[in-house]
Amino acid sequence: MCGIVAYIGKKEAYPILIKGLKRLEYRGYDSAGIALLSGGNVNLYKKQGKVANLEEFATGKDISGHSGIGHTRWATHGLPNDINSHPHTSMDGKIALIHNGIIENYDSIKEELISRGYIFKSETDTEVLVHLIDDIQKHEKVDLVEAVRLALQSVIGAYAIVVLSKEFPNQLVAARKSSPLVVGIGAEGDFYLASDATPIIEYTKQVVYLDDEEIAVVDLKEGLKIINIKNQVKAPYIQELEMHLEALEKGGYEHFMLKEIHEQPRSIKDCFRGRLNAEKGWVSLGGLKDYQQKIMNSKRLVMVACGTSWHACQVGEYLIEDLARINVEVEYASEFRYRNPIINEDDIVIAVSQSGETADTMAALELAKSKGATILGICNVVGSSISRITDAGSYTHAGPEIGVASTKAFTAQVTVLTLMALSLANRKGTLSSSKFHTMLSELEAIPDKVQRILDKNDLIEEIAKVYKDASNALYLGRGSSFPVALEGALKLKEISYIHAEGYPAAEMKHGPIALIDEEMPVFVIATKGTSYEKVVSNIQEVKARKGKIIAIVTEGDVQVRDLADHVIEIPDTDEHLVPLLATIPLQLLSYHISVMRGCNVDQPRNLAKSVTVE
Ligand code: GLU
Repeated sequence: MCGIVAYIGKKEAYPILIKGLKRLEYRGYDSAGIALLSGGNVNLYKKQGKVANLEEFATGKDISGHSGIGHTRWATHGLPNDINSHPHTSMDGKIALIHNGIIENYDSIKEELISRGYIFKSETDTEVLVHLIDDIQKHEKVDLVEAVRLALQSVIGAYAIVVLSKEFPNQLVAARKSSPLVVGIGAEGDFYLASDATPIIEYTKQVVYLDDEEIAVVDLKEGLKIINIKNQVKAPYIQELEMHLEALEKGGYEHFMLKEIHEQPRSIKDCFRGRLNAEKGWVSLGGLKDYQQKIMNSKRLVMVACGTSWHACQVGEYLIEDLARINVEVEYASEFRYRNPIINEDDIVIAVSQSGETADTMAALELAKSKGATILGICNVVGSSISRITDAGSYTHAGPEIGVASTKAFTAQVTVLTLMALSLANRKGTLSSSKFHTMLSELEAIPDKVQRILDKNDLIEEIAKVYKDASNALYLGRGSSFPVALEGALKLKEISYIHAEGYPAAEMKHGPIALIDEEMPVFVIATKGTSYEKVVSNIQEVKARKGKIIAIVTEGDVQVRDLADHVIEIPDTDEHLVPLLATIPLQLLSYHISVMRGCNVDQPRNLAKSVTVE
């Protein structure tokens, strides 16, 4: 989820690009880079890490130029290092290109280009684009715009790109498909291009949002021209920006956490993109393919994680044991390593971590490795330590998560584990073909159902108002909804500092029931399924002690509605997929309660995003 920005006009490009990159840094900060057209040359500056590193690196160098492109990267293909940073250039250095997205068929294009003598410098999927454009331009003897258009016809995947060429110094060529791109029309015949309007807004309010498969040519002599990849001319639809800069930096949301909660329909979809096809009836986790057989044959899988990721593993345990009939043990990474665990060479140890840097999880993996186990990873951050030390793994593709309380990373981890359970169950034959197909379709429908829950935000905010002053809260669930209860309680603790506990609903009577009185909100996941009736009985037990019940129920439920003080309906789905839906209202409840209590939602006290100390 990189950020891209570009400028062409009378002003100096560099300060505009640097400022723009800082605004886009929420989209990724693995590396930053700029290419400037100056004195007929393309000057390139790129550096791993934050935009500030790039600025430092460029200090004292020639940063003049009235045309330039800039990029802040969130790596998908290739480590976050200087070489993989964008812009990428053609072999003769005449063309420079920035890209946000993934070129899915980059491998076959790359092979073809290599056979024609092209030398690749980076490990990125992006680099194929710049060589392909260069190749087409040379062989077809066409201009830059036509070369870009033809190149994009061979591309499968998502892209927002901007291309600069020293042979066409008066123009920049940009295009998009699935990744965002906006063109700003300056007052002095100059142009801005960016992933969102934040880098543009202080210069102009006149913008054009490109549609999929459109190519924008901004030319200092001929102005703005838009065509599509079929070469049809499109009339630019110029809009007036009505937004405040500050609001835009969080994509219009008050907090990163809220933005990330709302991103979940997309992040879940991104997580199963290319890994699931319900129509064709297949599911595959590319990164784990070579280990699939070993996992199937293993006597047990050991999952190690901390915090929210540990809850995702707990959901994974229910799914993998039930669907694929493989024994799973979930361990706190910090406990695992200090209790002399019994690990054999045929064990498979899977680490789950958003950042891929969690120190305890890393240490647990190292211990498992030293004992000869196969070690696998499920992480969000590409190129992170865990992804580097493991034998294989799967990325969650949730995009950068900035809010310290994890939301979209959790649902993405659960999605990967669900895909894993389904893939193993299918291969092992522990799931009937019809059930397998139904589950794939149900999983594909999850993003839309998540959206329907997000649309209930107002109702959830009203409920939050009632319980914002609580001192304690209890969260109950059974089966795979038990870890959802744990996660709900953790979210409330983390950001609102209310003491909260998650319990298996049936365990309540073995202790926590003593805490229940009329002051105590009890959040219960009471969706349709195997233990529905049992959960209803647990609700009765709470009501008998005057506790307040806030129930997450399946749409259309009447039984719990009659008992509960508040209900939040979620769409019906397969029982195994309930965690992906039931989590959403609990995230929103915690968010609103935190805001109402005046807490720092995105940076809660004493916490850090990536826990790199043991
Ligand atoms: N796939 C490109 C890379 O890894 C762009 C990444 C992105 O837009 O997220 O460099």
